[in-house]
Amino acid sequence: MAHKKTIDVQAAVAIAAAEAIAAKTQGTFGVGGLMLDQHGNVLQSLHNNVIKDGLVFDPTAHGERQLIDWYYAERAKGRELPAPQDITIVTSLDPCCMCSGAILAGGFNVVVAAPDQASGINYDNSAAFKVLPEALRAQAGDSFSYPAILGSSLYARAATGAAPKSFFIGKTISEPTQALCSLVFEATSADVMAMLNNDLPQPALKDPATLPADHAIVRALKQQYPDALTYRCAPHQPNAGLAPFLLQAMARDREHGGAGDAVALLDSFGNLLLCMAGRMTQSGIRSAFMETTRAYAQLRYKLLNGASAAQQDDVRHYLGHPKDGTFVFAKGPDASAVSYMNLGAYGSTMEGPLPLENPTQFQYVLPSLPPAELAALCAAMPPLYRNIIRIQPTQVADVALVNALS
Ligand SMILES: [Zn+2]
Repeated sequence: MAHKKTIDVQAAVAIAAAEAIAAKTQGTFGVGGLMLDQHGNVLQSLHNNVIKDGLVFDPTAHGERQLIDWYYAERAKGRELPAPQDITIVTSLDPCCMCSGAILAGGFNVVVAAPDQASGINYDNSAAFKVLPEALRAQAGDSFSYPAILGSSLYARAATGAAPKSFFIGKTISEPTQALCSLVFEATSADVMAMLNNDLPQPALKDPATLPADHAIVRALKQQYPDALTYRCAPHQPNAGLAPFLLQAMARDREHGGAGDAVALLDSFGNLLLCMAGRMTQSGIRSAFMETTRAYAQLRYKLLNGASAAQQDDVRHYLGHPKDGTFVFAKGPDASAVSYMNLGAYGSTMEGPLPLENPTQFQYVLPSLPPAELAALCAAMPPLYRNIIRIQPTQVADVALVNALS
């Protein structure tokens, strides 16, 4: 813990760069970041944790998202911390849509080093944030800072976005430090994206509903979600039978400070694996989708980590990549920052094209926006989301399910 009263942007980015190197060493995306108070004291620094022990640990464990959850967890423990408006996150890489949504939902400031032309919120370097819903653009312009990189190399740039906070002494990043932030991410990006998509193809998957009740995979599923495998529909076609599970989670979401959202995960056979509520009272960014996608990833991680080759083979056959299944949101995306975070986290869960035979992997029951508006919102997202994954939230086809939740 530093107790300096002030810090250079350069010194802060150097800490983020060191964290990014640690992330690369761990075998995950080479991205790091830190959180500063209103005097420039370092409150916390950490790095990406998407991959641990050579396995997918948590697709949402990006640096900025973890820093924000850390902030809320500390406050929940009773620690006095400045308001988000007085906090600055410094990150080695331009925030993705998930992290940008989380930053905007909380009201934090952010200083960004390297650009990310695939998933960065400022991927076009305009600092206009046209990728965001219109209502969030001005807030991003006031809180996302891209300091100047002085020099003449390809890493040089003029300052754009918001001015760095006044506690920073120097307000520029050196070319070598900026280059380090870029290169360490570029050195990891393709490999980690491949690891997030190295699961068995759907035809090789086996139905977990055929396993005996005392099988380790069934027990782990039921421990995570007691109603796992008690509902089944035709693949990708949720019907009214899913309503009681969603309604129960929606009620729990309201108890936990949310607006009554819930997200179910069905596997490629139509089995219900999980249906989670958010935990918004613990952290303003623990939405139902964040809880669901993280719970599924961590369930697989726990079963795979340290298991024998035969056990790992079993887990990979019975618990496939979520892209082959269906996420069913009780409420469709809207134009809020939390909803944008969810869309981004969905992208971070996929990290590659949706299967051609499963274009409606993302389904919702109750619409929050007219379909054309929602399609336009998704079509404006950075290239990873709109061109590679092709995020396309679609309302469930079953009218009885819609009526049951209305
Ligand atoms: Zn991110």
